[in-house]
Amino acid sequence: MNGLKNIRNIGIAAHIDAGKTTLTERILYYTGRQHKMGEVHEGSATMDYMVQERERGITITSAATYCSFKGHTINIIDTPGHVDFTIEVERCMRVLDGLVALFDAVAAVQPQSETVWRQANRYKVPRIAFVNKMDKIGADFLNVIAKMRERLMAPAVAVQIPIGSEANFLGVIDLLEERAWTFSEKDLGATVIEIEVPPEYRDEIKSLRAELIERICERDDSLLAKYVAEEHITVKEIKTALRQLTCQGQLVPVLCGSAFKNKGVQTLLDAVIDYLPAPDDVPPIRGRVPSKDKEEERRADENAPFSALAFKVQSDPHVGKLTFIRVYSGKIAKGETLLNVRENKKERIMRILRMHANHRQDIDEVRAGDIVAVVGLRSVLTGDTLTDPKHPIYLESIHIPEPVLNVALEPKTRADQEKLGTALAKFSEEDPTFRYRTDEESGQVVVSGMGELHLEIIVDRMLRELNVSAKVGRPQVAYRETIRGVAEGVEGKFIRQTGGRGQYGHVILNVEPSDDGKEIVFEERVVGGNVPKQYFRAVEEGVREALNCGPLKGYPVIGVKATLIDGSHHPVDSSELAFKIASSLATKEALRRANPVLLEPLMLVEITVPEGYLGEVIGDLNTRRAKIETIDTNNPQACTVRGLVPLAEMFGYATSLRSKTQGRGSFTMEFHSYEEVPKEMAPVGEEIGVKL
Ligand code: GDP
Repeated sequence: MNGLKNIRNIGIAAHIDAGKTTLTERILYYTGRQHKMGEVHEGSATMDYMVQERERGITITSAATYCSFKGHTINIIDTPGHVDFTIEVERCMRVLDGLVALFDAVAAVQPQSETVWRQANRYKVPRIAFVNKMDKIGADFLNVIAKMRERLMAPAVAVQIPIGSEANFLGVIDLLEERAWTFSEKDLGATVIEIEVPPEYRDEIKSLRAELIERICERDDSLLAKYVAEEHITVKEIKTALRQLTCQGQLVPVLCGSAFKNKGVQTLLDAVIDYLPAPDDVPPIRGRVPSKDKEEERRADENAPFSALAFKVQSDPHVGKLTFIRVYSGKIAKGETLLNVRENKKERIMRILRMHANHRQDIDEVRAGDIVAVVGLRSVLTGDTLTDPKHPIYLESIHIPEPVLNVALEPKTRADQEKLGTALAKFSEEDPTFRYRTDEESGQVVVSGMGELHLEIIVDRMLRELNVSAKVGRPQVAYRETIRGVAEGVEGKFIRQTGGRGQYGHVILNVEPSDDGKEIVFEERVVGGNVPKQYFRAVEEGVREALNCGPLKGYPVIGVKATLIDGSHHPVDSSELAFKIASSLATKEALRRANPVLLEPLMLVEITVPEGYLGEVIGDLNTRRAKIETIDTNNPQACTVRGLVPLAEMFGYATSLRSKTQGRGSFTMEFHSYEEVPKEMAPVGEEIGVKL
């Protein structure tokens, strides 16, 4: 029944408060998935089910949900608006086929709409736009379109116009079909009523319709010929062309409504079906076949070998570990076995679930193009590819940025410490941009994340959901260490001989900077078998342990290649533990001798401001050790400055930018690379705050 053509995988993206949650609620209500309408201001909205989300009235986690409308399955992936949750946005964009970009009819293009728009550009996601809050005082539909063109350079075209506006907003007119609809007040807008097109709109319809058709025809060769020859073009032909142009990202159809006043939601769903791509309207996914080491593609076809991407792992109090997957090709039924390509591990699918916010429904199988959650996968992490065990392929993984901020946690009691350990493991499994480690000396736990809000929310969830008492430190930059020199033949010994069985481990190591400067590399080149093969793994573990805690300030060490070149063993006393300790000692000493330096995260910062504020913003950046790369003044309303700035200089930047630009500037920031901290800037004692 539901072939590929009847599936839409969409996200709804917006600036905070534009009405995304309200709109999603209405969609779920009208499509019959839910019987009571939740209101955000009452804190009962279905999609926002975490306590923090309800309290803050914002959406943090990307919950996937689905609904059916006019014979189509629509999977909705809820995308968060805040930049600290980049990983959530990344994973959504990765598995979406199309996006509904939501705008506030009064505020028009807000800073976060710009950020999300750029992210969608990067992933080439086809879009339609919905101008919400048409009922608000000051609502101006055509102004939003003008701002989209001006500030986002979006090829936006009106496909609807509102009937009335502000308190008199009644419904919508479809420009192509020249038909008008209102929404029944009696049943919360559930009944859509077609009405006569109000005569006073004739002129406006005529001119906007002509503009729309012109924009479509000038981009579609076959229609252009007819248009120029002034031949008749049918509405169907125009809609087909508009669908194609939207799927290719050449046009963005713009609609309007008021989610809160229950108007325009069903007509938006019509447009999702009419203009946004089905899974086989987008190019097939590509990946690398491990055995052949070459690229192949997987077409969205249920007869092709199975391939899917795990885009979110979430623990669930009722069913345990849930893995959200986007199926790209093939089909799979409950009880069948899949391969986790990264781990080369086979895993059985115990259950397949359709997710509706926090409710779920068991289904028996899933096919190409669909999005579901599965239960039973143990080894799978975000970004992993799952395939038919006979046809493995690595799909392009989700880009996981490095965490850049640390916060120290000090559990109050031993019981708190134990609970904290379990919680940390769970959170880092769910969110790959969240990491943690324990400092053995101080007992402090250091958690790392993408930004202040990211860490604040996680720490808050942990303390609250698990009832852990802990002292929470201030956020600090996550520094790294590396080496600039080489240390050769460094010895490490761990020998205890006290009657009975002793300990004997002895290694000789070299350390040097690794080629790409990033990974930690370990090799063995032992001559004469002085260190038996069975201890190589323990030696490697010792190296990695030592690299966790650098010689300068105890930050993790990166960009190091360590080579085991010699050592010795004892036939009775040698053990894995002894070799691990010996190797850790040798590595620590070697790092000290190899000219260690401190690295700091350098952020790629992009700032958008009206031209008048440009000078001041650049001046301010210069005091923050910024390396400005480009300044684009093509659009005087929205000039962009791109540059690299150390994270340490970016604390409180949002506030500073706001006050320097009277709230008109916006910025995004993401991790770029690590760079050596200039000697005079090196953090000292207190400034690091946390003793790592
Ligand atoms: P989100 O942050 O994008 O998820 O936005 P919400 O759905 O939480 O909405 C933010 C606020 O705007 C809430 O108080 C909503 O009731 C209100 N709101 C949402 N849609 C509309 C609308 O169409 N008209 C008006 N007047 N208010 C709306």
